Amino acid sequence: MESSVRNIPFGKPMIGDEEKNAVMEILSGNVLVHGPMTKAFEAAFAAFTDAPRAVSVSSCTAGMHLVYFDLGIGPGDEVIVPAMTHVATAHAVEYTGAKPVFVDADPRSGNIDVDGVAAAVTPSTRAIAVVHYLGVPVDMKAIMAIAHRHGLFVLEDCALALGTRLDGVHAGLLGDAGSFSFYPVKHITTAEGGMVVTRHDALADRLERKRAFGVDRVVGERVMPGEYDVPILGFNYRMNEIEAALGVAQMQRVPEFLRKREENYQALRAALAGIEEIALFDEPAPGAESSRYCLSVVLREDAGVVRADVVGQLRANGVGTSVYYPKAVPQMRYYQEKYGIEANAFPVASGIAGRSIALPVGPHLTVEDMGHIAANLQQAIKEHKR
Ligand SMILES: *Cc1c(COP(=O)(O)O)cnc(C)c1O
Repeated sequence: MESSVRNIPFGKPMIGDEEKNAVMEILSGNVLVHGPMTKAFEAAFAAFTDAPRAVSVSSCTAGMHLVYFDLGIGPGDEVIVPAMTHVATAHAVEYTGAKPVFVDADPRSGNIDVDGVAAAVTPSTRAIAVVHYLGVPVDMKAIMAIAHRHGLFVLEDCALALGTRLDGVHAGLLGDAGSFSFYPVKHITTAEGGMVVTRHDALADRLERKRAFGVDRVVGERVMPGEYDVPILGFNYRMNEIEAALGVAQMQRVPEFLRKREENYQALRAALAGIEEIALFDEPAPGAESSRYCLSVVLREDAGVVRADVVGQLRANGVGTSVYYPKAVPQMRYYQEKYGIEANAFPVASGIAGRSIALPVGPHLTVEDMGHIAANLQQAIKEHKR
């Protein structure tokens, strides 16, 4: 069995000459914000996802906040949020003064538990937030049925969902709006950045204003300098031209990135088949396509191995791993203290948080790397079994 040292980082930005040249071109010009690159990136993103509208923003988190802000969600309102997600999904609600109401995960997928969502609706609920956990689509038919029954807005956190589709419809267009992230370890990167997609034209129009202070005419739209007014409140949540130039270059590589992720994922999943101490999440249902963000394995409760021992050995052998996410969000101290949440309130999410190891399948890696990861994982489990 091969368990020599190899350098396999969990994530690595795929920045090539195209990206470098694109950035240099922006730096050599005079337009750093409000230019053609953000428009070109939005157009390319809309083309790939089939989105009627795509609005670039400074991050996924900013995009989610902007949507809630636009909806007028605030104190006294509730938004249903998955317990197993990045803290950003909850923070975006918290910024508005509304209360995030957490729902536990479905152990088969790690996605929000649909029955839990139905049970969490109250007269104060305004919206449902979902996250396509590790790129596997949420059962949006069931979520939208609940939303329609109660007149709720549905926001998809698509940070890990570039390439995620359900019955051919891209994530972000299954609910009312979706927010993507271009942080360095995501499917594509602009260093920092995000994109909101939506089917609702009027919503997109308002987001375009509210991401730029709420001015009625941004720089390129003014005939005379200084010719603008501010009819509404807005933020500075824009994406700049340097980031957008990176985005345009990255979009050309998305099909290749996704193809490599799929190939690596299948190779790794096959190579993990014999390891009894781990459980894998279910494969996506028919009609569901995962963006294959990573392959997360969950150490069985009775496996007799401590995660830190396994991860430590993998790390020593050059295998980078991650944990999505290290705690259920309601168990993060800010939320735990603010809402007085009990330690065992979200058993499924806490189990995933405590016992899962996310293995990389990104386009920076090869099928041979997958064999190396699986062999090292098996070896590490064997050596640390008590
Ligand atoms: C990374 C991530 C975010 C945050 O994205 P930013 O672009 O850094 O704001 C939000 N949600 C999920 C699920 C993420 O993985």
